Amino acid sequence: MKVLVINCGSSSLKYQVIDSDTENVLAKGLCERIGIDGVLTYQKTGADKIKIEAPMPAHKEAVSLVLNQLMDPETGVIKSIDEIEAVGHRMVHGGEKFACSTLLTQEVLDTVASVNDLAPLHNPPTLVGVAACKELMPTTPMVGVFDTAFHQTMPAASYVYGIPYEYYEKYALRRYGFHGTSHKFVAKRTAEILGKNPEDINVIVCHLGNGSSISAVKAGKCVDTSMGLTPLEGLIMGTRSGDIDPTIIQFIANKEGLTLDETMNIINKKSGVLGISGVSSDFRDLGDAAKAGNERAQIALDAFAHRVVKYVGAYAAVMGGVDAIVFTAGIGENDIGTRAAIASRFGYLGAEFDAEANNIRGEEAFISTPDSKVKLMVVPTNEELAICRDTVEIVNGLVAK
Ligand code: ADP
Repeated sequence: MKVLVINCGSSSLKYQVIDSDTENVLAKGLCERIGIDGVLTYQKTGADKIKIEAPMPAHKEAVSLVLNQLMDPETGVIKSIDEIEAVGHRMVHGGEKFACSTLLTQEVLDTVASVNDLAPLHNPPTLVGVAACKELMPTTPMVGVFDTAFHQTMPAASYVYGIPYEYYEKYALRRYGFHGTSHKFVAKRTAEILGKNPEDINVIVCHLGNGSSISAVKAGKCVDTSMGLTPLEGLIMGTRSGDIDPTIIQFIANKEGLTLDETMNIINKKSGVLGISGVSSDFRDLGDAAKAGNERAQIALDAFAHRVVKYVGAYAAVMGGVDAIVFTAGIGENDIGTRAAIASRFGYLGAEFDAEANNIRGEEAFISTPDSKVKLMVVPTNEELAICRDTVEIVNGLVAK
C-alpha cells in the first residue's frame, strides 16, 4: 500500500510517500512559505532534489502541488491519485481524548478541534492540512497519529501539576508530553534489538533534537515524560527554556516592560541553548564555538547535558531501575560530543560508557561496553514510518470489518 504521510505546520507541510510493503520511502519533500509565496521541495528516492517556486496561498494549493508533483510523468512515483491508498497525518495534541491513532472522521476532527485551546499554535494548522487533503482525496481514508497519545498511560502522579485541581477539571490543564510517536517507535525498536519483550524491560528514551524530551517507558508503557501541557517544559532546548521558575516570566515582563505574549515569545523562541550562548540553537555551531573558546557556548552545552543527566536519574528512580538508556533524534543520533558528555555519567546506574563505540552517527549502535549491565544505545527515530505503520494498521482494520 502507498501511504502519504503529512506533517503540517502553520506555514509548512512536510510529506513522504512510503510503500508500506517494503517500508521504502518513494519520494519526500517540503512545502514552505504557505500563505506567503510558496516553495516546494521534492525528491524522488535516488534522484536529485527539485526546488520549485509556486504560489501557495493556502494549504489546499500546497497539497495540490504535492499531488501533481507525485504524478509528474518524469519525476513522479504514482500515475494517479488513487494509488495513494491512505494518508497518515501527524497530529500534535489529542488532549485526553486520544490514547492511540485513529481514523479521522468528522466526529474525530471536531473532537480534535475541541482541544485547540491546549495547542493553539499546533493544532489548527494540522486540521487545515487534513481538510485540504480530504477535499482533494475525498474517498481516501485519513488517519491521525497523535504526538500525545503514547503518553496517555502516565499515571495521575506524573501528569498532575501542583496547582488547584479545579484547573485540571475545568480546563484539562495537566502534563501531556509530546514526541510520543518517536518515543514509542524507539522504545519498541530498543526491545527488538535487545531481543526482549517490551513488557520485560524499562527504557529511558532521550529524544534530543531541536525540541527535546525524555520519557520513562516501564514495561512498554510511558510512565513519565519531560514535556508538559505544551512542549515548553522539561529539557533546555534549541530555543525553548525548558523548566524554569514561573516567577521569571513575571519578572522579565515587569523589568523589560513586555506583555505576557512578548515574554512567552522570548521563553519559546529566544531561550534554550540559543539564549544561553548567544551563538546558535544548532549544536554543530555550539560545538564549533565552544572549541574556539567561546565560554557561553560551553556553558550552554554543559547546561543541556546537565539537565538530561538529571532527568535520566529521576526516571531511573521513578521506574525503580532501568535496562537501557537510548539516544535518538538530531542530537541524540549525531552529536558524538554531547552524547559522550551525557552517556559517560551513568556508571552509578551500571551503564559503562564505551567512548570508541560512541564514535558513530545516525545508525543503530550500542555505546556501552559489551558487558555493561545497563545498555547505552543509539536508535534512530523514524516518525514518518511510525505514522505509516499506524495508518496501515487502521486502514487494514477497516477492510477487515
Ligand atoms: P527537530 O526537532 O527540528 O526535528 P532534529 O531532530 O532534526 O530536530 O534535530 C536537529 C538538531 O540536531 C540540530 O539543531 C542540530 O543541533 C543537531 N544535529 C544534527 N546533526 C548534527 C551533527 N552532525 N552534529 C551535531 N549536532 C547535529
